Amino acid sequence: MDIAELSTKILSSDRRALARAITLVESGRADHRARATELLDLLARHKRQALRIGLSGTPGVGKSTFIESFGLMLTAQGLRVAVLAVDPSSARSGGSILGDKTRMERLSRDPNAFIRPSPSQTNLGGVARRSREAVALCEAAGYDVVLIETVGVGQSETVVSEISDLFLLLLAPAGGDELQGVKRGIMEIADVILVNKADGELKSAASRTCADYSGALRLLRKRPQDPAGFPKALMVSALEDQGLSIAWDELQQLDAWRREHGHWQQRRAEQAQYWFHEELRQAVLSQLSTAEAQSEINQLALQVASGEVSSVKAAGLALACLKITTG
Ligand code: GDP
Repeated sequence: MDIAELSTKILSSDRRALARAITLVESGRADHRARATELLDLLARHKRQALRIGLSGTPGVGKSTFIESFGLMLTAQGLRVAVLAVDPSSARSGGSILGDKTRMERLSRDPNAFIRPSPSQTNLGGVARRSREAVALCEAAGYDVVLIETVGVGQSETVVSEISDLFLLLLAPAGGDELQGVKRGIMEIADVILVNKADGELKSAASRTCADYSGALRLLRKRPQDPAGFPKALMVSALEDQGLSIAWDELQQLDAWRREHGHWQQRRAEQAQYWFHEELRQAVLSQLSTAEAQSEINQLALQVASGEVSSVKAAGLALACLKITTG
């Protein structure tokens, strides 16, 4: 299929065309990359935008249960929902722990939902670009909300927060009154913390955990992009469908406030710059790791060791022989 045709089909919300386009952006082949870039350029002209919501949480906390319930609530309101996964485990091992369609069976059968499992990629840089481009494709296909899911390990939260408008952290009720070793960095990027499993026997523990996090959030430095009361912690039960519409209301209010005060626009502009720098970095790194570059670098390293060439000069010589292009 030619790119113009694929583009037209995506714009008319053809799910198979969307899936095909995501496969294209995931490909590492140079000719596929060129076609993907052409497609993304064509689609970007339409300037369609979704509300992008990042969601992080450790395995077992209830991410897929939450996405299914939350997604079904949104589709019942007539919204179209896409779900993508950024999975650092697939970057490392080739095996995915997220985005498996069978995890969200009801949502995946919903005609107003689109679920894309995470691909296996060789590095987080590749995963990041693919996720970013997949979000853009979902927006072009007219999805109102794009949920981007990740597990709470490694660098993946940064990747997800740099492609999201809003960032949710999902937690389970803690046993005692200790904060669950959540890294400060993650707390700092969260807009809303959702304490899940607030049902049955876990309800009082959830309530304590929620109060603890509310307290901890109040101690964080105030961010200019937050209206009064944010970031905040809320209780939900994904299993029993409790608190989800309150959470959705809060997210919409936050989003509306940020748009009204220019923070939304500023954030997207900063994200575009962030990805520009990342693309540059990745392009240089990938050129440095080609066999040709490695043999040149190894030779220069020997000359540096013997004192023939200074390290600074050798670095200049190595860079001079790279032909850097974006991959
Ligand atoms: P994920 O690994 O983060 O995607 O977590 P899952 O959605 O697979 O959920 C892990 C387990 O927690 C499953 O057994 C779910 O049924 C359970 N679970 C998820 N949400 C809730 C909830 O709101 N309440 C209770 N009690 N259990 C839940």
